[in-house]
This record gives sequence, C-alpha cells and structure tokens, in this order.
Amino acid sequence: SPRIFSGIQPSGGLTLGNYLGALKRFAEGQGKVETVFCLVDLHAITVWQDPEALRRQTRELAAGFIAAGVDPGQSILFAQSHVPAHAELGWMLSCVARMGWMNRMTQWKDKAGKNAEAQSLGLFAYPALMAADILAYQATHVPVGEDQKQHVELTRDIAAKFNHDYDTDFFPLPEPVIEGAATRVMSLRDGTKKMSKSDPSDASRINLTDDADTIAQKIRKARTDADPLPGSMEGLKDRPEARNLVNIYAALSGEAQDAVLARFEGQGFGAFKPALADVAVAALSPITARMSELVADPDAIDRILQDGAARADAIAAPIVAEAREIMGMIPAR
Ligand code: ATP
Ligand code: MG
Repeated sequence: SPRIFSGIQPSGGLTLGNYLGALKRFAEGQGKVETVFCLVDLHAITVWQDPEALRRQTRELAAGFIAAGVDPGQSILFAQSHVPAHAELGWMLSCVARMGWMNRMTQWKDKAGKNAEAQSLGLFAYPALMAADILAYQATHVPVGEDQKQHVELTRDIAAKFNHDYDTDFFPLPEPVIEGAATRVMSLRDGTKKMSKSDPSDASRINLTDDADTIAQKIRKARTDADPLPGSMEGLKDRPEARNLVNIYAALSGEAQDAVLARFEGQGFGAFKPALADVAVAALSPITARMSELVADPDAIDRILQDGAARADAIAAPIVAEAREIMGMIPAR
C-alpha cells in the first residue's frame, strides 16, 4: 500500500527553498495515504554541528513542519536518531551499495569540492543512510526538491540490488515525487547555485525565521541584472537570477510565471523587488509566527517527537528485522 516518506536535515534554519520544495507539499499529501516525516539529525552530523545548535535546530525544524501544516496526529513526525532502524539498515545497505555509485552523486561532488579526502566518511555514505530512511518504511513515494532526485534514484538502485542479491521482492522501488511551482529555488547571491540552509552566506537565502524587514532587505540586495523584465519566461532564458525571482514570486502567489511577467513587463527590479518582498512576507509571516509560538514550548515539541518515534519504530523495526533475516542473520529471539 502507498506510503509517503520524506526528511529534512536540522543542519541550519529552514529556508524558502525547503518550504517551497518540500514542507509546503508535505501537508498536501496528508490524510489520503500514510505520511512519515523525519528530522534527519544523523544526516546533519555528516558535517560538524555545534551540539547546542543542533538541538535548537532540531526543535525549530519540528516547529517548521507543524507551522507549515504537517499535523502530528495525522502524520508521523519524529527524529531519525530516536529510531534505531535507520542506522541499522543504513549499515546493511551500505554493504549493498557500491563505492562507484556514491562517487557519481553530484551532491557529494558539490559538498566535498576539491577536498574529498578531508570529508567525513558519513558525508560520502549519506545516500545509503537515506536509502535506509526510505526503505525502513517500505515507502512508495518520496516528495523532495529537484536536488534530491538523484538520491531517490540511487535508493531504487540499492533496493533493486538488494532484491536481486537476495532473490526477493522485499523492498518496493520508491518514486521521487518532484512537483509544485518551485522544486529548485536558487541562491539570492548566485542564480546557478541552489538556495541551501548550510550556505555560509545568510544573504543567499530567506529563512523561515526572518522578519519582514530582513526579507525585504535580502530581496532588495539579491543579485540581478540591469535589464527590464520581459513579457514571458522565454525572455529569461539566460538570466538565472531574474528567472529565480520571478519563479519565487509565482510560487508564493500561486500565479503562473507568465501571468506575473505580463504584469511587470518593461519594469525593472526597482519595481519588482518590493512587490516580491510583499508577497514573500504575506506568505511566510503566519508560518514564522506559528513557529515562534511552538519553539517557546520545547517540552511540547519533545513529546510530539517521542510519540512520533514510537509510531515510526512500530513500522520500521519489523521491516528491518525481516531484512536482517533475508540477509542471513540468525533471529535475536
Ligand atoms: P543542506 O544545505 O544542509 O543540505 P538543504 O537546504 O539542502 O540543507 P535538506 O535538508 O538537504 O536542505 O533538504 C530538505 C528538502 O528540501 C529536500 O526535499 C530538498 O530537495 C529540499 N530542498 C532543499 N533546497 C531546496 C531548494 N533550493 N529548492 C527546492 N527544494 C529544496
Ligand atoms: Mg541538502
């Protein structure tokens, strides 16, 4: 039966990219099928995290899910490290996955840069843990942004190799679900780089915790060109920064990109940017406000996550026990 799984790393504060590419869409799938959402703290530590900051970011991320409409009654919302199935199956699948497959991951190449030797082993192996996150629930659908498509495809390869190597059809091959108006929001400083919560430049992104003035200022300073806006997206082919801002506007206002451009045709960014700031503040401020209410009660967040972990464990533990048996481990009891 269909089951949706997705995760977000508590590796920083949530961004507009996370909201449009992931969070906003998570709420939409609820109720129809089982939805499992994970704060992937074990992924976050693939690069060093200050322990105090990691705790704060994890609770803030939980608040972000709820503020964006994920209902912890309807969905399972939990922290990855609270459910041992993830790390356990992650190890098992890292014995199925091949080094060559990991080497081809564009995110590994981007994040490691020219300094692969100095990265953690975990950063390299990350996609095997991500495969475990998904397969521990035998999830069928994985809503993600464009940047995670390759990892979900790798999960399919890992599942298929497991099934083949052990002559079984135990793991379903999950589908990446990449939908919505903004599946790839770009950095405000560089239209060829995706917006990321771990980008060292805070000016590169809009955080869900930014206030109205900060949002307006970041948009005002966003890199653009000097040309006026054309009447349709066709005219923005070679203008990645302009295309990104129009895309964000359309995704937040719920309009078609061309409809937005039809209104701003011939105008420059001096007119467009303040309008975009208004749209962004209107869309995000209710979420920001709800998040700050929620983080004011960390105990309540912890209780929600404990309840979620128990429900997640009830699904994942028997699946991983069966995977162990398929691989040849003798029963623990
Ligand atoms: P990090 O920089 O630490 O990798 P991130 O911002 O990329 O952080 P993740 O936790 O890696 O966030 O990803 C969470 C979800 O948000 C994934 O589904 C991912 O595809 C989506 N996502 C991340 N960045 C963007 C973006 N710029 N546009 C659309 N979706 C995005
Ligand atoms: Mg990422």
